[in-house]
Amino acid sequence: MLKEETLHIIDYILDKTNPKKNNPQMSRVRHEHRKKKHDDLIKICINCGHMWSKVPDWVDKSLLKIYPIGIIPKIGKKYKKCPLCSALEIRRIK
Ligand SMILES: [Zn+2]
Repeated sequence: MLKEETLHIIDYILDKTNPKKNNPQMSRVRHEHRKKKHDDLIKICINCGHMWSKVPDWVDKSLLKIYPIGIIPKIGKKYKKCPLCSALEIRRIK
């Protein structure tokens, strides 16, 4: 016995994939949990020329990630001295 209320499979798929409805499977809100993209947080060091960024401790225990030269494009990145170079400079002054 088929119920009249049960949707056809095509209607069901169209209903579930409708972006206007607030389906948790298709919503973009789920993917926007980060406030900033990680690509925007990567900076170029003035001293050594490496690209670096601060990362959470489950990525690296030192809370710092240094990327090899020539892998990530430098267009649009900000220049800032990396924590390693600034630490070395503080040691030289002392
Ligand atoms: Zn550096």
